[in-house]
Amino acid sequence: MKTALVLGAGGFIGGHIVNRLKKNGYWVRGVDIKKCEFEETQADDFLIADLREQPVVRNVIDRRFDEVYQLAADMGGAGYIFTGEHDAAVMHNSAIINLNVLDAAHRRLIPKVFFSSSACVYNKDLQLDTKNPDLREESAYPAYPDSEYGWEKLFTERLIMSYNRQHGMENKIARFHTIFGPNGAWQGGKEKAPAAICRKIAYANDGDEIEVWGDGEQTRSFLYIDDCVEGVMRLMKHKTFNGPVNLGSDYLISINDLVSVVAKIAKKDIKIKHIDGPQGVRGRNSNNDLIQEKLKWKPRQDLKKGLTATYNWINNQVHTT
Ligand code: NAD
Repeated sequence: MKTALVLGAGGFIGGHIVNRLKKNGYWVRGVDIKKCEFEETQADDFLIADLREQPVVRNVIDRRFDEVYQLAADMGGAGYIFTGEHDAAVMHNSAIINLNVLDAAHRRLIPKVFFSSSACVYNKDLQLDTKNPDLREESAYPAYPDSEYGWEKLFTERLIMSYNRQHGMENKIARFHTIFGPNGAWQGGKEKAPAAICRKIAYANDGDEIEVWGDGEQTRSFLYIDDCVEGVMRLMKHKTFNGPVNLGSDYLISINDLVSVVAKIAKKDIKIKHIDGPQGVRGRNSNNDLIQEKLKWKPRQDLKKGLTATYNWINNQVHTT
């Protein structure tokens, strides 16, 4: 039986990866500083551990796992990343986790670690336009990310590529472009735009107004969790290609239009009040040429279908918690 270690298994994407690996017949150890919030973990073994501590990480990585999925990070949506209030913690916590994990995996001769990078690595000057923010992988350089979160991801990408070059590892890097779906943060300040909009609409009555940060014309692409997990599995299986590669939808939508789509799903008439708030870059889209070329696959999930599943889940959370 193949063995896998999922770090950050108590979180949104890590939890879904555990479920997928179990479905695929793996023995799975999950690790997180907290338990899964919304469901019982399916991991065979689940350890509560702080991955910022090097001896702890060496204990957690106590054998030669066939695969390691490193999803643990100090992260959140625009309200967490762009206010500046969490910059030191975001950089320190995530960087030290990644340093510890790479070192311990290398010592155990683990062949490959999957690492979740982010669209936040891209140069902010390329994302000033709402309509054509064509983000190809090579355009991350010259580097000028719009947040400290993005700089940490870029540093860790380079750390991983150094281990690949110097120690013959085959660590994989995907740059996620806003992932959404059930079991993701939907309140408390770490939630991202799709979850925040779903929550606001779930609380609203028909005809109510909800608040949107900025003019709402800023654009993004949103990837449903099932497509994200599928892409991670395919990248991990690839014999020679390690990334970095975009893993995102290439369907661009403004936040105002996102509100309209969710309002239709909820069957509510919703008005928008634009207020000041952290917005991030003006436009950001995933260019999927490289993933198509290397993996012969790219994300295909319909946005409306993913939002319907997510809205129904958040609506249920709102009315039962
Ligand atoms: P999440 O916050 O739900 O999961 C991260 C998990 O890491 C959490 O459960 C958290 O408790 C855990 N963690 C944090 N510090 C820890 C520590 N010191 N020790 C042990 N565990 C710790 O976030 P997510 O959305 O599942 O993101 C997973 C990964 O994907 C992260 O690396 C994130 O930066 C990356 N990513 C996510 C998105 C997205 O849209 N969700 C986009 C780009 C990149």
